Amino acid sequence: MSAVVVGDESAVSSQGVLVTLVPGPDRRSTPKPYQFRIVYRSSSREIGCVMTWLVLGGRQPYLVTLECTSTGHTRWHCTCTDAVYRGEDRPDYRCKHIRGLTACLPAE
Ligand SMILES: [Zn+2]
Repeated sequence: MSAVVVGDESAVSSQGVLVTLVPGPDRRSTPKPYQFRIVYRSSSREIGCVMTWLVLGGRQPYLVTLECTSTGHTRWHCTCTDAVYRGEDRPDYRCKHIRGLTACLPAE
């Protein structure tokens, strides 16, 4: 993963794509393979946006972002309506896209 070069399409498609099962958008939440494609990766772990993934497989594409706050904590963001609405009151809320992604990452 560390070899992913932002802007190099071949490197991104071969190394930067992660596929995992996430409850789908239908009523039964049937697990579906969702693609998480790295579209941005900060060169250093500084304050602000560390990484951004493009999420494919749902009703529409979403963006999941990992943010490093000034206090040294990390915060997850997703552009789906679930994350936007519930995240307003609960900054730590994680939608299914974020949960699916973090379940695949070795550590946070
Ligand atoms: Zn989401």
